[in-house]
Amino acid sequence: MTNDYAIMVVGAGPAGLSAGIYIACQRISCLVISKDLGGQLNLIPRLENYPGTIMSSGPLLAKTLENQYLTFKG
Ligand SMILES: Cc1cc2nc3c(=O)[nH]c(=O)nc-3n(C[C@H](O)[C@H](O)[C@H](O)COP(=O)(O)OP(=O)(O)OC[C@H]3O[C@@H](n4cnc5c(N)ncnc54)[C@H](O)[C@@H]3O)c2cc1C
Repeated sequence: MTNDYAIMVVGAGPAGLSAGIYIACQRISCLVISKDLGGQLNLIPRLENYPGTIMSSGPLLAKTLENQYLTFKG
């Protein structure tokens, strides 16, 4: 089975996942590939200064970003 994608994003840190969200939001086919999910977010046990989050962790934010991407990706 082969799939064609209009855009491929390399990396699933905050930048790559944000790009994936915005691309998928436009209904443009997009594949995010990465060595991990979250990138440097995985090194942050306690995340305190990210807008919209009061008490969170890096891995939890990474999962939330992934879920948002997958929601738009369909
Ligand atoms: C300990 C620590 C605490 C931090 N605390 C905060 C904070 O409180 N608030 C804040 O705003 N920022 C914080 N930061 C900074 C924040 O984590 C980074 O600015 C952010 O992760 C950068 O996102 P990025 O997507 O550009 O890169 P990265 O998070 O580095 O993601 C890069 C992605 O690319 C992938 N990748 C790299 N090379 C390849 C390859 N060859 N093939 C496939 N995939 C590849 C990696 O696996 C990863 O998924 C902290 C960073 C650290 C280390």
